[in-house]
Amino acid sequence: MPETVYAADLVLPVTAPGIRDGAVLVRDGRIAAVGTLEDVRRESPGAEVRRFSGCTIVPGAVNVHAHLGFRRKDAPEGGTFSGWLSRLIEKLPEKEAWTAEAARDSAREAIESGTTFMAESSPYAECLPQLAESGMSGTVYAEFFPHEIGPPEEAVEFILNKVLGLREGLPERVDAQVSVHSPYTVDPESARLAARRTREGGGRLAIHLSESPEEVEFVREGTGGLADIFGSNDWGGVGVSPVRYAQDIELLAPQTIAAHLATGVSEEDVEVLARTDTAVAHCPRSNDFLGCGVSPVPRMMARGIRVGMGTDGLWSSPSMNLFEETLFAVKLHGFDGATGLRLATLEGARALGIEGEVGSVEAGKRADLAVVEEAPAGEEPELAVLEAAAGGGVGATLAGGDLIYNRVEA
Ligand SMILES: [Zn+2]
Repeated sequence: MPETVYAADLVLPVTAPGIRDGAVLVRDGRIAAVGTLEDVRRESPGAEVRRFSGCTIVPGAVNVHAHLGFRRKDAPEGGTFSGWLSRLIEKLPEKEAWTAEAARDSAREAIESGTTFMAESSPYAECLPQLAESGMSGTVYAEFFPHEIGPPEEAVEFILNKVLGLREGLPERVDAQVSVHSPYTVDPESARLAARRTREGGGRLAIHLSESPEEVEFVREGTGGLADIFGSNDWGGVGVSPVRYAQDIELLAPQTIAAHLATGVSEEDVEVLARTDTAVAHCPRSNDFLGCGVSPVPRMMARGIRVGMGTDGLWSSPSMNLFEETLFAVKLHGFDGATGLRLATLEGARALGIEGEVGSVEAGKRADLAVVEEAPAGEEPELAVLEAAAGGGVGATLAGGDLIYNRVEA
């Protein structure tokens, strides 16, 4: 069995203290051992050793909410969510010509900044081929828009069958699931049915929730910028918060990851999320760009809610670098570096229910690693490593034991 030892000045496993002169033994795409280079070498004397000098090995980043099919240069102006969304909709026809290229480029940018797991949402899973060929592992959540298909039964049947078909022939590291896009694009009957049937089938669900002031107004009052854009979507105005509405239509569950929660999230909403064990994707740079406010992430974490980090897509976010997204959150909420590194990796894996497979440097898990060109001395090296990774300092990325990016050529 071919074995390789990847060594660096420092290994930060996230679930254990940092290891100076550390090493990771990789066998069959999985982590077989973690320790000092000396110990790991003793365990496997015949293995090839690749040493990244002046570097730190961390778990690969887990991006829990992204859209691959956008490209930076065409981004609509930000400012307000509904203004941005109407400009986005205007651009959709021209976008068709380059979505695949954008998805390839976005995936590449993620890999070159240390991402090894990508939870991507796209209309009818259009970016699945590019995620599958990228080398990352991940899930594509297929968004569906019932008005384009038919009545709720028919629309849900269509998207479930579509996802079943897409799963065939996929590499084991990639998966397809359903997304109920948002409270303002998917009617409550279709949303409820899709969520129920997804859970019954043992699947997972992605949703956008409580993202913008306009969404809060749409759900509560049935008025505002989103009601203007989606005139025929007449199910708003139910007098409750988006979180309460999502609970009422059975979207909230441990298998659900809800993106944003940036606007109008009350104490009571946090309780609902905690009670239903719904996971949350935090995308602070996108929220900032679209005037959506700040998600109460510290309160959610204190309440035991699983929170992971997401970059969102390049039409609302400056980069696909998940470590950069996380550093933004660290500054926004006053987290320490260790919390930041954990959010970018293990907490993302927990949010998606895949912490047994990825998210830390531990024996038995997939060998998904990022090599950061920085090896700080001292007691708390995590912040300096996170800053380096955020600033373009990822020199190599391993996914399932394969070097899918390597500019340091160790
Ligand atoms: Zn999104």
